[in-house]
Amino acid sequence: MSDERLGNTSEHPDVVVVGAGFAGLYMVHRLVSNGFDVVGIERGSDVGGTWYWNRYPGARCDVESMEYSYSFSEELQQEWDWSERYSSQSEILRYVNHVADRFDLRRHYRFDTSVIGARFDDRWNGWTVMTATGKSVRCRYLVLAVGCLSTPHTPDVDRLSRFEGETYHTGTWPHRSVEFAGKRVAVIGTGSSGVQAIPLIAVEAASLTVFQRTPNYTVPAHNRRLGKDELDWTKANYSELRAANRRMQAALGAGFGRPSKSVFESTRHEREARFGECWDKGGFGFLSAFNDLLLNQTSNDYAARYIRTRIREVVKDPEVAESLMPDSVVGCKRLCIDTGYYETFNRANVSLVDVRKTPIERFTTTGIVAEGLEHTVDAVVFATGFDAMTGSLLAMDIVGTARKRLRDHWEAGPRTYLGLAVSGFPNMFTICGPGSPSVLTNMLMSIEQHVEWISDFMKFMQHYSWNRVEAQCEAETQWGARVNAIADLTLYPNCNSWYLGANIPGKPRTFMPYFGFPSYCQECEAVVEDGYRGFTLRR
Ligand code: NAP
Repeated sequence: MSDERLGNTSEHPDVVVVGAGFAGLYMVHRLVSNGFDVVGIERGSDVGGTWYWNRYPGARCDVESMEYSYSFSEELQQEWDWSERYSSQSEILRYVNHVADRFDLRRHYRFDTSVIGARFDDRWNGWTVMTATGKSVRCRYLVLAVGCLSTPHTPDVDRLSRFEGETYHTGTWPHRSVEFAGKRVAVIGTGSSGVQAIPLIAVEAASLTVFQRTPNYTVPAHNRRLGKDELDWTKANYSELRAANRRMQAALGAGFGRPSKSVFESTRHEREARFGECWDKGGFGFLSAFNDLLLNQTSNDYAARYIRTRIREVVKDPEVAESLMPDSVVGCKRLCIDTGYYETFNRANVSLVDVRKTPIERFTTTGIVAEGLEHTVDAVVFATGFDAMTGSLLAMDIVGTARKRLRDHWEAGPRTYLGLAVSGFPNMFTICGPGSPSVLTNMLMSIEQHVEWISDFMKFMQHYSWNRVEAQCEAETQWGARVNAIADLTLYPNCNSWYLGANIPGKPRTFMPYFGFPSYCQECEAVVEDGYRGFTLRR
């Protein structure tokens, strides 16, 4: 990178934190509280990360509100009242803003500023971080809190640019009201975002055409208002509930109960009753109906059959019901949580176009052509997902020691140590990076664990006057092997999910998240007890 691109290096904080979502904000707060000088950089105009960008109709968290919130401050968790079992995007954004105000975090941030690259300098053991504004910042440590699902993916469909109607992506929804009343709308994509948006768009639009390539399993949310008694009880027991969640594989759902039985230990009647009980409670707990649903194909088949039966019961047109039925592993692609999704396909103004066998052919100026038929629409909503886990990291030109580029180091797939650090990229940390539990967990729990581990490490470095830390290549290789070996014990590698990078053409196929929050945390603690095993420290 030429020196001209470095621009004007005017600031020299200890740490640059990229991102002002849940991860970045807590990282900044924690570091500032520990006496570090920190600059936060955020491409959006304000705080919120995912919840700042994803404003599509129906956007809502599918982890329960009382779990999807910070636990680091007792005052914060006691003073905030969530109104629903699953919070809407707007309520979560209000919460994030409250956190930013309460801990006075905005003053550390440069908003409307995209980081375009960063370069490590061996001479002074630090990073120069370049931004799109032309300004750069020099720092000792670089923390990348850029989110796992923050680079939207729009498929390369022939002649898309010729379409003259409105186009939207759920992951970059406009910050103004979008009106669909009286319009013919198409939604492409039936993952979590599509499943949330489709029922609401169907109610508003004149007509809705859903283009579905792969049907997904979705379980009812049974969202509801939270009562005062429920809030009070949870708040009174918060520390025990949080601790119990930390012992769960996905760092959530302790209240639902840990599954103790395999499908094979139940009679047919018990099995159906258990699935029914979990379905009626709603949410991710469905995957905890039995302890082997994600481990054993036959067990999983029972869950799949149960869901397909429920789809058949709800969707009146047998052909449409058949098209909506997934034939893959339940939970292999992330399970969706919905409100009225299957019921939406009973509406007269909704039609389903199954592009499983024949892909969307092309756009015209007025619509979408699939199976030789043109579907004329006024607006298209792409609910087509993200370049997950690596997209936002690789969008920046990050250059480590010996001019090594992160893009080259990860050419065959991401390599990290603990999902926290990368060999050849000293003094750089990733929050919820590939190789960490992140997207397989309640993100808030994972974020808190990462932030606390990283800030403790920086304090340790400062205390002993170390000024350079780097993950060892061998530790990184072993960690990658462990992430994959654990994934291979599960059914996760058995479908074309974004966990594997399979949704992005040409992306290397490797299972990115680490399965199992408690064992991950134990390993992070063991690494510290062993004197930061796997890291090389220098002065
Ligand atoms: P996604 O799960 O990747 O779903 C994208 C959808 O677009 C899939 O149905 C995909 O089909 C379809 N698609 C992509 N390219 C296509 C093409 N050329 N033609 C037709 N269909 C195409 O993305 P997402 O729904 O945005 O969700 C991503 C993740 O974000 C979720 O898994 C979840 O972790 C997170 N999320 C969370 C919440 C929440 O409540 N917390 C809400 C929304 C999203 P294929 O399956 O065939 O590729």
